[in-house]
Amino acid sequence: MTVLVRPKGLGDFRVREFRMLIDGQWVAGAEGRTIERIAPGHGVVVSRYQAATRADAERAIAAARRAFDDGPWPRMTAAERSRILLKAADLIEARGDELAFLDAIESGKPISQAKGELTGAADIWRYAAALARELSGESYNTLGDGTLGVVLREAIGVVSIITPWNFPFLIVSQKLPFALAAGCTAIVKPSELTSASTLVLGEILEAAGVPAGAVNIIVGTGPEAGAPLTSHPEVDMVSFTGSTGVGRLTMANAAQTLKKVSLELGGKNPQIVFPDASLDEFVDAAVFGAYFNAGECCNAGSRLILHRDIAEEVTARIASLSAKVKVGDPLDPETQVGAIITPEHLEKIAGYISAAANDGATIAQGGAALDLGMGQFMAPTILSAVRPDMAMAREEVFGPVLSVLTFETTEEAIRTANSIDYGLSAGVWSRDLDTCLTIGRRVRAGTIWMNTFMDGAAELPFGGYRQSGLGRELGRHAVEDYTETKTLNMHIGRRTNWWMRR
Ligand code: NAD
Repeated sequence: MTVLVRPKGLGDFRVREFRMLIDGQWVAGAEGRTIERIAPGHGVVVSRYQAATRADAERAIAAARRAFDDGPWPRMTAAERSRILLKAADLIEARGDELAFLDAIESGKPISQAKGELTGAADIWRYAAALARELSGESYNTLGDGTLGVVLREAIGVVSIITPWNFPFLIVSQKLPFALAAGCTAIVKPSELTSASTLVLGEILEAAGVPAGAVNIIVGTGPEAGAPLTSHPEVDMVSFTGSTGVGRLTMANAAQTLKKVSLELGGKNPQIVFPDASLDEFVDAAVFGAYFNAGECCNAGSRLILHRDIAEEVTARIASLSAKVKVGDPLDPETQVGAIITPEHLEKIAGYISAAANDGATIAQGGAALDLGMGQFMAPTILSAVRPDMAMAREEVFGPVLSVLTFETTEEAIRTANSIDYGLSAGVWSRDLDTCLTIGRRVRAGTIWMNTFMDGAAELPFGGYRQSGLGRELGRHAVEDYTETKTLNMHIGRRTNWWMRR
C-alpha cells in the first residue's frame, strides 16, 4: 500500500494576483482577461494572472526589440552584465523559500524538492555570470601578408523563451541567464499553469539592475500568447522547452522567418541493467528516476530494460520499494511524490495504464489514482511484461509509471533502447567498464548515466537526440548558443587586388 501524506490545506493563504512585465512596467493585459491557477495538491485557486493576447505579445516583442537596438543592456561591458547576473543569483537565494513555495503549490511538486531546484537555479545564474566574461571570438594573422581575420561573437538579438510547467523556475534559469549573458533581450512566456515564480523572477531582475525592456514576461495560453513569440519577424531566436508536438509547431512557425530554434522536448528514457550491476543501488535509483517530480519529468527513467536473469527479482524489489514512497501534500517536508498537474493529465496517465493492462502488461504495484480528500494524486506504479511495441513503452506518459521490458543479449538491449522516436537520456548499470562504454557509445541519447541516474551540473551540456530536441543547454558553450558569428576580414596597407593583377 502506498504511504499517504494527507494534504492539510492552505489555511489562511490569500490568492496572489500578478500582472505582466512589459517594457519595465507591471501591466494588465489588453483585454483585461484573467487566468486562475488551481493548486493541484489542494484544489483551490492560488494565483490569478493577466492573460496576454497577441496584442500584448506584440507589445512585449516591440519592447525587447527597442531594448536590443537602442537600450543599454547589449552595450554594457561583459563585466557589468556579469555583476548584474551575480546580484540576481543572490536575490534568487534570498527569495528562495518564497519561489519554492510558489512552484510547489502551482505545480504540485514536493516543497523539499522545489527548494533543491531553487538552489540549483541560483548556481546556474552564477555559472552564466562567469561565462558572460569568457565569451570571445577568434583572430587570425596567418591568412597572408597584410591580412587580419577577426571572428566576432555578437548577441543574436531578441529571444523568445517559452517554458513548461514541470520545472518552472529551473527551466527558465537554463535559458534566460545565458541569453542575457550574451547581451540578448528577451520575452519570456512560462506555462500558464505555473507562471508565478517566473513573474517573481521579473521583480528580482529589476532589483538586480536589468534595464527596462531587456526582459519582458507575459502569461497566457500557448496559442494566444506563445504562438506570436515563435513567428514574429522581430524575434531572432526561439528557445523552447515543452512537448515534442508543440516543439514541432514552434519549429514550423519559426521557419517562416528562418529564426534559430533551440528545442528541449520529451523523453522515454531507458535504464539498461545487466546481471553484474549493484542491484541495491540500482533499485533505489530506479524508484527515484521513475517517481521524482511524480514522473512529470522529461528525464524520467520510465523504461527499464532488465536482463532476463534478474528481471523477476528486480521487479519485485522495485514494487516493494514503490509501495513505501510517500505520496501526498506537496507542502509536507516528508512528501516524495506530490500532486499531478491537472485532473485531465491524471486521466491521461490512468488511460495509458489501463491500455497497457488490457494489452497484456501486469500491474506489479499501484495502478490507480489516490483520493486524499483534495487535489489529484497517483500511486507510484510499476508494470511488468511490457512489450516494446506498446504505447506504454514508446510514448511519454509523464506520470509516476515505470515499465519493465527485458533483454537477453547486449545487442537486443541496444536495439530496444534505440527503437523509439526519443533520445533524451539513458542509464546503464553494470560493474563492467566495457559493457558501460558499449552502451554509452551505441545508445542514441544526449546524456548517458553510468551506475547513476539523473545527476546534473551547470557545466554539463543537456539536450536530446532525434525527436527529443535540437541544440544543447548548459555547459561551457551555453552562451554561444545565443550569438551570431561575424567575420571581419581586413587588409592592412596598400595592395593591388589579385583579380586585377593580370
Ligand atoms: P507543452 O508543450 O504543452 O507547453 C510548453 C509551453 O509551450 C507552455 O508555456 C505552453 O503554454 C506553450 N505552448 C503551447 N502551445 C503553444 C503554441 N502553439 N505556440 C507556442 N507556445 C505554445 O508542454 P508542457 O505540458 O508544459 O510540459 C511537458 C513537456 O515538456 C513534456 O513533453 C516534457 O518532456 C517536456 N520537457 C522537456 C524538457 C527537456 O529539457 N527536454 C524539460 C522539461 C519538460
